Amino acid sequence: MRIYNGKSVFNGIAIGKIRVYKKDVQQVKRTKVTDMEAELSRFASAKEEAVRQLQGLYDKALKEVGEANAAIFEVHQMMLDDVDYNESVENIVRSQEVNVEYAVAATGDNFSQMFAAMDDDYMRERAADVKDISERLLIILSGKEDHTASAKEPAIIIADDLAPSETVQLDKDMVLSFVTVHGSTNSHTAILARMMEIPALVGTKLPLDDTVDGKTGIVDGGDGKVYVDPDEETLLRMRKKQEEEQHRKELLLTLKGRENVTLDGQKVMLYANIGNIKDLAMVMQNDAGGIGLFRSEFIYLEKEDYPSEEEQFQIYKQAAETMAGKRVIIRTLDIGADKQCGYFDMEQEENPALGVRAIRICLTHPEVFKTQLRALFRASAFGNIAVMYPMITSIGEIRRIKGIVSEVKAELDAQGTPYGEPEQGIMIETPAAVLVSDMLAKEVDFFSIGTNDLTQYTLAIDRQNPKLDEFYDAHHPAILRMISMVVENAHKAGIWAGICGELGADETLTREFLAMGVDELSVAPGSILPIRKIVLETNVKEYKSQFMYEEHD
Ligand code: PEP
Ligand code: MG
Repeated sequence: MRIYNGKSVFNGIAIGKIRVYKKDVQQVKRTKVTDMEAELSRFASAKEEAVRQLQGLYDKALKEVGEANAAIFEVHQMMLDDVDYNESVENIVRSQEVNVEYAVAATGDNFSQMFAAMDDDYMRERAADVKDISERLLIILSGKEDHTASAKEPAIIIADDLAPSETVQLDKDMVLSFVTVHGSTNSHTAILARMMEIPALVGTKLPLDDTVDGKTGIVDGGDGKVYVDPDEETLLRMRKKQEEEQHRKELLLTLKGRENVTLDGQKVMLYANIGNIKDLAMVMQNDAGGIGLFRSEFIYLEKEDYPSEEEQFQIYKQAAETMAGKRVIIRTLDIGADKQCGYFDMEQEENPALGVRAIRICLTHPEVFKTQLRALFRASAFGNIAVMYPMITSIGEIRRIKGIVSEVKAELDAQGTPYGEPEQGIMIETPAAVLVSDMLAKEVDFFSIGTNDLTQYTLAIDRQNPKLDEFYDAHHPAILRMISMVVENAHKAGIWAGICGELGADETLTREFLAMGVDELSVAPGSILPIRKIVLETNVKEYKSQFMYEEHD
């Protein structure tokens, strides 16, 4: 058995034969011609045929993956009409007196290199598109059939890279999964794969030869792994995982697209917790209404040095764009305690959980905080980003944050850098914040209750210490009363309150939270649909609290 790692594009398990897909590489010869007009009229006919094919692909994609994702084929049609592209082909044919195939291949190469060298991400991605239309024209000019990925039996397709047009042409019933050696998780190809719900990986360094072709393979889209020639134990384990996923999918099918509303009409927002943009596929797959907690510190923890503003900006922008208008709550850096970052050079502390962590680091290292805020405010121009501050204990901290935010905005204004106006909320995860939540509510746009830390600080129990597990009781009436109090204070001030700690996903408490009027639950993506099921089956008015806050032992 051999295992290869890749970047996850879409979750799911695929088990089957591997088929290595190699493109028909168009060998283009440069030949001298005398009748240039004849060459250019062949070019015009090839373009007409290409437009016809692209219209067919657009119609197919429109049905299968929706208008937004089909639009790429309209873009390709427009590219065929691009004045610069056409002038270049014409110019090469006329000035060099050569065949049109050569002129198309040369133009395709030149333009795609030019796009690839651009700074702008969007333009860089157009490099693949220009190559794609040129290859289409070359196939048409050669008079050969396009054999793109037509398979006789369902298989795992492994390729060096796939163009968007190749991806959409894959016969869904014949493709169990696709894995590419190259390709970015941002590309249209990856977007299409997600929409098609095919387990898919990119950036997987496996050989495209007989050591893989025709062999049995397993693709684990979630874990980003490909197993070639799996052993019996792995096969059994993956079959079980596949069955579990199938079960979840069935649940998903019946609940996807449903509103989170109780039998008596109370609505709740069901959002997802993520630690990485790789988790976005799971968020979409599980029909989250938004992202309730993006733990941005993982960006810092994965690195050897401070992530730059630009690096962070790209990540936040991608999350905002992928969520297409749905709320994306990004929590500012929450390191310290159990999440230590070597390059921050923090001093050893006696009690790190009570030490310099989260907002305390940001307020004492304004340059680090400002870098992140700049990235967040800039990215919020690309979608519905909200910023959330962790470990708040007082109004004073919020005022200090506001001061720094004003400085950041003034600096962006002075530079003429565009930015949005994200909502700004806080985590309620210290008992102090709960007790002054009536005052805090007047200062911010929303609350999100971090029950993990709130339990640790309220019960004075180190959440990291396994010996204390039996004492760590998140159902303690103190915690439930605190949640109820926070929600009440939020509503009095006209803001919403959610829960993003692990307790939010505790299905035994979903009805209780609804009865308290909790507006949002942010949970691991896989918990969204099971909770939606409970919401849909609950009548809040008829629900009698199962938790006798007074009588808990
Ligand atoms: C919490 O404390 O409940 C929380 C959501 O934050 P974290 O678990 O990252 O500390
Ligand atoms: Mg916390």
